[in-house]
Amino acid sequence: MKRGLVSLVVMMLSLTVFCQKKILNLPDIPGYVTLKCDFHTHTVFSDGSVWPTTRIDEAIRDGLDAIAITDHLEYTPKKEFLPVDHNAGWKIGEQYARERNFILVHGTEITRKMPPGHFNALFITDANLIARDSVWDSFREAVKQGAFIQWNHPGWKAQQPDGIPRIYDVHRKLIASGWLHGIEFFNEWEYYPLVFRFCKENKLTLTCNSDIHDIISETYHFTRPMTLVFAKEKSLASLKEAMFAGRTLAYFENTLAGWEQFARPFFEKCISVGKPFYQDEKNVYFEVTNSSDITFYLVNGKQGTPSSLVFPSNSVTRVIVSNNSVSPLTYDVKNILTGEDETLRIELAF
Ligand code: ZN
Repeated sequence: MKRGLVSLVVMMLSLTVFCQKKILNLPDIPGYVTLKCDFHTHTVFSDGSVWPTTRIDEAIRDGLDAIAITDHLEYTPKKEFLPVDHNAGWKIGEQYARERNFILVHGTEITRKMPPGHFNALFITDANLIARDSVWDSFREAVKQGAFIQWNHPGWKAQQPDGIPRIYDVHRKLIASGWLHGIEFFNEWEYYPLVFRFCKENKLTLTCNSDIHDIISETYHFTRPMTLVFAKEKSLASLKEAMFAGRTLAYFENTLAGWEQFARPFFEKCISVGKPFYQDEKNVYFEVTNSSDITFYLVNGKQGTPSSLVFPSNSVTRVIVSNNSVSPLTYDVKNILTGEDETLRIELAF
């Protein structure tokens, strides 16, 4: 009897412990909260294999703050079984997300041959109105709704066999009209260094997304790709403002990519260098704490200092340098990309 009561209490307690959220150690930067986002996901309402609320549950479990469900407008292979409503993902997920302190971004994917290719319209109000015969009419309607328009996987080999993104006239026209706001630097498994140049020249936002169609845990056996967005607060309005302002870093496969003005403060919040704790006639000893989930690889140390250093994620690393070493040490962080051929140059003051 008593055991029955205990198991009943345990069961009731466990009922409240659903939708557990993983903690991602990806710090805020001064003045902004870091929102972990995926702006490109699919559900059964286009060619995905999961229900919209499952996408939200997956993202919460993975520690994200926001996703956009971006089902294809022009490709609805399940229409024999599911009625076509391009707002279905949003309608099913909106309240569900709200009850879970999670941001669902209303989105859709404009899906055309290259050029122009595929585009996500994000922060929209009605995807059905964006489904038009002419792609230009689709863009016009999305912009009318206040959309952030993202060019998806510009070097996708199905559309660009050599994998090199190219700006066509239609893209120039979009940019000149102020109708293109961001480009995917990373999509699913691949990234496009040229996107740095495109974004720099045209003041566009870099993004990083999964473009997930299947069950996310079956695709990524490590941290899923995400866009880190530096927002004034955790809200849909702040997220949108930050996206238009370009305050992002791409985070994928233990790599960060984005502008130095965000990469540097982010790195500085991940890493702290302790005062020397020991010194002998030859060497100075100090510790470096990496409180983030990213293992950092430092290379190109100056002569007379360690040529490379590794700071494993969520770990303290002991560093030994010769007494003649002058503080600060300088390194390039190999896995923080800040340009087409650039990595972040940092200093370690001990
Ligand atoms: Zn897609």
